[in-house]
Amino acid sequence: MNTHSVLPEVPVLDECNYIAVFLTMACPYRCSYCINEYESPREHFRMISTAKWVRALSRLTNLKREQGEVPITLSGGEPSMHPGFYDIINELPERIRIDILTNLSFDVDEMIARVNPDRLRREAPYASIRVSYHPDQMNLDDLLAKTHRLMAANFSVGIWGVLHPDQEGIVLEAQKRAHKEGIDFRTKEFLGLAYGRLYGQFKFPDACTMEKKEKVLCRTSELIMGPNGSVYRCHHDLYENCEPVGYILDPDFRMTGEYLPCECYGHCNPCDLKVKTNRLQQFGYTAVSIKFPQRVESGARRLTGSATS
Ligand code: SF4
Ligand code: SF4
Repeated sequence: MNTHSVLPEVPVLDECNYIAVFLTMACPYRCSYCINEYESPREHFRMISTAKWVRALSRLTNLKREQGEVPITLSGGEPSMHPGFYDIINELPERIRIDILTNLSFDVDEMIARVNPDRLRREAPYASIRVSYHPDQMNLDDLLAKTHRLMAANFSVGIWGVLHPDQEGIVLEAQKRAHKEGIDFRTKEFLGLAYGRLYGQFKFPDACTMEKKEKVLCRTSELIMGPNGSVYRCHHDLYENCEPVGYILDPDFRMTGEYLPCECYGHCNPCDLKVKTNRLQQFGYTAVSIKFPQRVESGARRLTGSATS
C-alpha cells in the first residue's frame, strides 16, 4: 500500500453515536474491576504510528449531526501512553473534534504546553477530557490539583468516579470535595461482576453473565478501533482480540451497519449492552442491536409442534 496516497473517505453512519480510538491498551494502573479485562487479562496490541492514525482518522466524514458533532474519543488503556499522543491531537484535521478518556496519569504541564485547549473543546453537555477516578490507584489531592491546572489553562475537563460497591463511599466523598472546589465530578454505575452479582442495567439480562454462548446476529452503531488499527464489532471483540471486521487503513474499508453473525452472545462486554446515555446525555441508548434466530426457530418449532400434536 502506498503510505502517502489519500485514502477514500469513510462516511460514518448517521446513527453512529460514538467513535472510539483505543490508542493503546497499556495503563500504569491495575484496577481490579478494569472493564478492559472483563473476561480475560488485557491483550498486548501492536500500536500503529502517529502518521498512520492521522491518515486513518482523516478519512472519517459525516461527523456533523443536527444536535452537534460526533467526536473521536481517544481511549485505552491510557491513551497518553501512545508515544504520539500529542502529535495525533495536533495533526488531526480541525474538522474532527477530539474527546479524551484518561486517568490523568500524563504530565498536565506538557499537555498545556503542547495543545491548544480550543482543540479539545466543543458544544456538549459534558467535558471533553473525561478523567476516571480510581481511589485505590491514585491520590485524590494530586488528581484534583492536576484538574485545577488544566481548568486554569482553559481545558474542558471533568472527573467521573465508578460506583464500585467497595468504593462507593470514597467516590461520593471525593465528589463532594470536588464540587466544593468547583470541579465537575460525576459518577457512573459500576458495570460487571462483584459479590456474585452482575451490576449494571442491560438491554438483555443474560448477555454479560458469561454462563453460556449463543449464536446471534449483532449490529453495532459504534466505530471501535483497536491500537493496531483494526476495527471491531464491539468492545468484547476488541478486549478478547477476536477477528476484526476490518482495518481502518484498508482503502476498501466501509462502515456498513449490517447485522453480522456472532457466536459469543452471553459473553458480551457490559459497555456494549449497557443501557446508557448517548453523547447528548439522553438516557436509553444501547450500542448494539441483536437478533436471536435460534430463539425464533425454537419458538417456531414449539408452535409447529403444538399445532400438530
Ligand atoms: S485506570 Fe482505567 S484502563 Fe487503567 S486499569 Fe484502571 S480501569 Fe483499567
Ligand atoms: S453479541 Fe455481544 S459479543 Fe457478539 S458482537 Fe454483539 S456485543 Fe459483541
